[in-house]
Amino acid sequence: KSGDVIQNLKDELEKHGLADKVRIVSTGCFGLCAQGPIAIVYPEGVFYHLVKPKDAKKIVEQHLIDGKPVEKLLYHDHKTKEVINKLLDTPFYHKQKRLALRNCGRIDPERIEEYIAFDGYQALAKVVNEYTPDDVLNDLKESGLKGRGGAGFPTFMKWSFAKESPSDQKYIICNADEGDPGAFMDRSVLEGDPHAVIEAMAIAGYTIGANQGYVYVRAEYPIAVKRLRIGIEQAKANGLLGKNILGSGFDFDLDLKLGAGAFVCGEETALLESIEGHRGEPRPRPPFPAVKGLFGKPTVVNNVETYANIPQIILKGPEWFTEMGTEKSKGTKVFALGGNIVNTGLVEVPMGTTLREIVEDIGGGIPDGKQFKAAQTGGPSGGCIPVEHYDVPIDYDNLTEIGSMMGSGGLIVMDEANCMVDIAKFFLEFTVEESCGKCVPCRIGTKRLLEILEKITMGKATMEDLDKMEELCLHIQENSLCGLGQTAPNPVLSTYHYFKEEYIAHVMERR
Ligand code: SF4
Repeated sequence: KSGDVIQNLKDELEKHGLADKVRIVSTGCFGLCAQGPIAIVYPEGVFYHLVKPKDAKKIVEQHLIDGKPVEKLLYHDHKTKEVINKLLDTPFYHKQKRLALRNCGRIDPERIEEYIAFDGYQALAKVVNEYTPDDVLNDLKESGLKGRGGAGFPTFMKWSFAKESPSDQKYIICNADEGDPGAFMDRSVLEGDPHAVIEAMAIAGYTIGANQGYVYVRAEYPIAVKRLRIGIEQAKANGLLGKNILGSGFDFDLDLKLGAGAFVCGEETALLESIEGHRGEPRPRPPFPAVKGLFGKPTVVNNVETYANIPQIILKGPEWFTEMGTEKSKGTKVFALGGNIVNTGLVEVPMGTTLREIVEDIGGGIPDGKQFKAAQTGGPSGGCIPVEHYDVPIDYDNLTEIGSMMGSGGLIVMDEANCMVDIAKFFLEFTVEESCGKCVPCRIGTKRLLEILEKITMGKATMEDLDKMEELCLHIQENSLCGLGQTAPNPVLSTYHYFKEEYIAHVMERR
């Protein structure tokens, strides 16, 4: 759709002899997906929403030639009904803080000079010219940055382990194998700001003493793959990757590895197996990848969002980063807002923002006047947050305490009409499909668990089945080999904990 809008704009500009006077920039995601495609006309910065290909004619003739904005494409505030001319003035952005997404929608991601114009590669220059590896580690430690891929492990610690592991060869990996249903955080960063990840990976290489990196990215993300390829080539051509980076004597090369869409390859040891050319199955840990990772060498694996934060932490200092967030979780978190919510899209909020603020103030609430019932965070590995925890500040510890988890950032909103048993079944179906089959508790256990859930939703289950379900959940959690199996029962356990009456109601249907 956006591609058609762009093509029609180009055709109209050509027709009116403006092709060499007006530049069309195709950016990454602005975040406000529910109102897309979005177009912003500069220098005024007037923003249009829900633009259709046929609107291109009016934008060119009425706005660009006659100087009058196209009324029907202007955005009106839901509550006041007033026109909001600037994208960032919409309520959607009021409580957001865009760090990882800072350049998404702002720059042309295919032009390195635009990234550089917004301080791009300055952090790398600072590191290779002024910092020792320990200085980098110190900044990361002070910043309190935790891995944004799900587990929330302190980034400096992972990097320190890899730095301290002696080896002739080390590796840096970016895990961009985003597979949670409804999640598109990594994709958006890579499509909108690929150089931020490339720069951070080079910084990681310098810190631990690695000269080779890989971005493991889903092949189903063709735009992200294309922009990464362009970004790597441009960085090489400008002396920012390859031999003797910025004349410092530090060498670092970067390549892409395309994932074939197996969810389990997002688990870091399965990802390593896949890069090595084997079937993507998790390895037992320890040893951890920071000690014995890719091809048995010390390896740092971080996700896209984690890397996207790093250049700014180096450039602006860890104190700047710690000003945002809660006592134990610093900075911001990107969420893909989906489900029954007005503003589906991509949001980035300071840690400590409440679910109510995300759903009501940023997300615009629930459509059709319905009531909020629960939100699922952490994708199929996470759990649901019911309305009684609507005002809990979101951070790693609080989410774990209420039976969910941060995960990589999927956030799916449910309203009063959703059956929570169906929701649990949906996520479990996904896990059963994606289990790699290596260990029995996950391979067989999740299937049996799904059968019980099917029995429940068909009104054929007994109260004993509910007990069996709970027991099986705990068995799978405790005995599965990797995170996929260990977390697979989470949606069942958390919905059972908060909405037991819905499970019982299904059992009662039987009578
Ligand atoms: Fe494979 Fe599941 Fe076992 Fe992980 S827990 S190794 S995904 S079978």
